[in-house]
Amino acid sequence: MEPVLIYDTTLRDGTQGENINFSAEDKIKIAKRLDAAGIHYIEGGWPGSNPRDQQFFELAKKVRFEQARLTAFGATRRPGIKPEEDVNITALLESRTPVVAIFGKSWDLHVKTIMNSTLTENLAMIGDSVSYLKASGKEVVYDAEHFFDGFKESSEYALQTLATAVENGADFIVLCDTNGGTLTFDIETITAEVFKYLKQRFNKSSADRIKVGIHTHNDCGLAVANTITAVRQGAVMVQGTVNGYGERCGNADLTAIIPILRLKMGLECVSDENLARMKNLSRFVSETANIVPLNSRPFVGKSAFAHKGGIHVSAIMKESRAYEHMQPELVGNHRRVLVSDLSGKSNVEYKAKELGIQLGGNGYDSRKIVSRIKQMEQAGYEFEAAEGSFKIMVEKITDQFKPLFDLESFRVVIEKDRDRPCSAHATIKISVDGRKEITAAEGHGPVSALDNALRKALDRFFPQVDAMHLVDFKVRVIDGRDGTAAKVRVVIESRDSDDIWSTIGVSEDIIEASWQALADSFHYKLTKKDEEK
Ligand SMILES: [Zn+2]
Repeated sequence: MEPVLIYDTTLRDGTQGENINFSAEDKIKIAKRLDAAGIHYIEGGWPGSNPRDQQFFELAKKVRFEQARLTAFGATRRPGIKPEEDVNITALLESRTPVVAIFGKSWDLHVKTIMNSTLTENLAMIGDSVSYLKASGKEVVYDAEHFFDGFKESSEYALQTLATAVENGADFIVLCDTNGGTLTFDIETITAEVFKYLKQRFNKSSADRIKVGIHTHNDCGLAVANTITAVRQGAVMVQGTVNGYGERCGNADLTAIIPILRLKMGLECVSDENLARMKNLSRFVSETANIVPLNSRPFVGKSAFAHKGGIHVSAIMKESRAYEHMQPELVGNHRRVLVSDLSGKSNVEYKAKELGIQLGGNGYDSRKIVSRIKQMEQAGYEFEAAEGSFKIMVEKITDQFKPLFDLESFRVVIEKDRDRPCSAHATIKISVDGRKEITAAEGHGPVSALDNALRKALDRFFPQVDAMHLVDFKVRVIDGRDGTAAKVRVVIESRDSDDIWSTIGVSEDIIEASWQALADSFHYKLTKKDEEK
C-alpha cells in the first residue's frame, strides 16, 4: 500500500497563528524534531516574504535531514512577467531545497476582483511557474488556493487550473480549503469530482500518476474531519501543522491526523516508533512556541486519557478498553487517574502506581491515604488539580519522602514608589546535604522573586532546574468556615520540555501558600525521571 505522505507546514502556515513566533533557530530545532518523527515533507517558510525565513533556509543548508524533504513555499509568478524575472521565484530556487510548493488561484473571484487579472493570464501564470520550477530540477507541489470555494462558484475554471498544473509537470496538486468554511460532505463530493475529472481529462496511465493532496483550515472545527474525508476519496498527501497551530482557528492538526490514519484507518504514514513520539512532538512545539499545551487536545493532550469517576476507574483497572478508545502508549501518552475527595480507594491505588509510589509498607494502606486526602481537601487542598503535590504528600505520609533541599529561611521585600510599578526582592537560605547557599533575586512580584532566588540557589546543585519554568499561577480565596479566617489556595503550573505538573499550597497567608506550591514544584522536578527524547 502507498503510504499517505505527511506534509508539515507548522513553520510556514503555523506561524500565521496569533501569538506564534519562531526565530530562525527555533525553526531549525522544530524541523529536526519533525524529521526525527518521520514527517515526509517540511515546509520551512516563504523565502520571498521575510528575512527570517530567508535566514532559516540559509541555516538549513547545513542541516542533514534523515528522511524529510525540505520545502520552500511561494506563489506563482506575478502577472505579465516571466518566471525567471520574478524575485520571489528566484528566492525559491536560491533556497536550494529539493522541493518547492507554489500556490496559485483557483477561484475566479480572486483572479478578477482581487488580483485584477484575467482568467487566461492566471492559467499561464500557473503553467509557466510550474514548468519553470520543474525545468530547474525541483519536485513541485502545487497548492490550489481557495479550491473548494472556487469549485462551488465556477467548477469548470477551478478544475482547469488543476489540469494546467498537471500538464506542466506538477508532482502534487493540493486542494486547499483556504478559508476553512467548507463542510465535510462538500469536501467528500468535490474531491470525488476532482478524481472523476482527472480520469476523463487524462489518459489512464497519466491519470493514475497524478497525486492529490489536501490542505484544510479549522474555521468550522472540521479541519481534521475534512482531511480524513479527502484521504478516503484518494488524497495521498496531507498538509497540516503540529497542534493545529495556524491562522485564525488554525490548520488541520497533524497530532490527531497521524494517529487516525495509522490506528483508525490502518494506513501507512509514519512507523509505530514515530507514532509513539507524537505526544513529545506536540509538547516540544508548544514549548518552543511558548504556548500552554491544550489539555483536551485529542490523542496527545494531558487529559486525553484521564479518568475521574470511581466507576470508570475500577472498570479500566479490569479492562482499559471499557472506557478508552485506544491504548494511550501508542501515541506516547499515558493514562491518568484523577484524585479528588469524591474518589475511592481504587483511584488512589491506581494513581500511586502511576506515579511510581509504593503503598502498603510502613503500615499505611490506601484507605488511610484516602482519609488523609479527605481531611486535606476539607482544609482547602484540591489534589485533582495538583498531581505534583499529591505525589509528594503520599510520599510524606508513607515515609518515602527524602527532601533534596531544606529551607532555612527567606525574606521578601516589596517596594512601591509613587507611580512606579511594585518591585520585589527575595533573599533565600537553603541547605543541600548540609551545604548552605544564600542567594538574592528580583522579580515582578513576591512569588517571582522567590522563584528566581530559589532557582539560583538550587542551580549550583541541580542544573536541571534551568529547564523548568512556571507557566501559570492561580490564586483562589477559600471561604473561612466555622469562624476560621479565610484561606487562599495557590496552584502553580510548571513545565519542562516534555512534562507539565501542578502543585498546590494552602494557607491564610498568600506567600506561605505560594512557597508550599513552589517548593513542591521544584521537588517534583528534581525527583522525576525525565522521559527519553
Ligand atoms: Zn493554509
